[in-house]
Amino acid sequence: MERVALFPGSFEPFTIGHKAIVDQGLGIFDRIVVGVGGNESKGGFMSVANRVRLIEDIFRDNDRVEARSYGSLTGEFCREMNIRFILRGMRNTVDYEYERGIMLVNQRLYPEITTVLLFTPPEYVAISSSVIRELAHFGKDPRELIPNNIEIKNYL
Ligand code: ADP
Repeated sequence: MERVALFPGSFEPFTIGHKAIVDQGLGIFDRIVVGVGGNESKGGFMSVANRVRLIEDIFRDNDRVEARSYGSLTGEFCREMNIRFILRGMRNTVDYEYERGIMLVNQRLYPEITTVLLFTPPEYVAISSSVIRELAHFGKDPRELIPNNIEIKNYL
């Protein structure tokens, strides 16, 4: 049976750190669905549609990765899509505690879903979507933190 994982997040925007998790995940799963969750933008930086478009462009040449948006609970979206694995990245102990809390609730509500947490490679631990938003806000082009050096201004 094909192993498919959902990699859920806000991805506002998708970073080279997120890509490192997808790349590692492709060693475990046949396909990864990057799920852009929630309709609320953290401060109106990027619309959900543009976040999905950026991820689609990053993985244009990889038919094992697709981007989708969803407005429901992550577990419900997994059931809808028939997905049994949730992939998440962990940078530090703060992420660990946060991810563990979500995992425990999901385990109770969606027992058929297994959460797979991957360690972030050290060169990416300081990278976050919020750092990119901050750089862009002050006029600094954050392209080295976006996969393929993509220019974020085409997605705002
Ligand atoms: P959320 O708002 O749901 O935390 P994010 O878009 O911030 O969504 O992150 C999605 C996932 O990617 C989370 O599991 C997060 O821990 C992980 N992640 C965020 N930044 C990095 C990074 N630099 N390297 C690896 N994983 C990361």
